[in-house]
Amino acid sequence: MHLLPVVKHGDSVLTDGVEQIGEVTDEIRNLIDDMIYTMRNGKTPAVGLAAPQIGRAIAVIVAEPPPEYEGEEATRDGAVVLINPEIVYGAGATVVEEGCLSCPGITADVQRPAKIIIKGLDSDGRPVKLEVEGALARIFQHEVDHLNGKFFFDHLNPIKRQLLKSRIRRT
Ligand SMILES: [Zn+2]
Repeated sequence: MHLLPVVKHGDSVLTDGVEQIGEVTDEIRNLIDDMIYTMRNGKTPAVGLAAPQIGRAIAVIVAEPPPEYEGEEATRDGAVVLINPEIVYGAGATVVEEGCLSCPGITADVQRPAKIIIKGLDSDGRPVKLEVEGALARIFQHEVDHLNGKFFFDHLNPIKRQLLKSRIRRT
């Protein structure tokens, strides 16, 4: 497994959107293993990662499930992996402080639905549908945003957003 360089804000792969995956090949699974490794072993460990953040414009996200995550569904090496994820339902609202490996130096309180239903494929290409809330629902929404070319600060009003973008560390 390899530690992959994390792409930073300003790179077009983070804003251009992604391709859906047709067939889950060994090449994709190797990439997923590298993503999980990178999420866990980077300079700043993270709880989630989306493929555009390692420079690949494909619909793959990985997340570190909190201890309360029950079951083995869609897991790989203890991480939750979703291919072609789609959020099909959201309810409630919570505000949580978020940050992002691709935007070093900034965080912001972001309001999102508290509970979601997300569909996709697991790393074996099997369809899965997960109903999650709390930390994992938050991570999934943040990572699916990356697939759609969005950042967490895009949920803020334009003034706050501009201020935050100007503070992203460039080094
Ligand atoms: Zn992020």
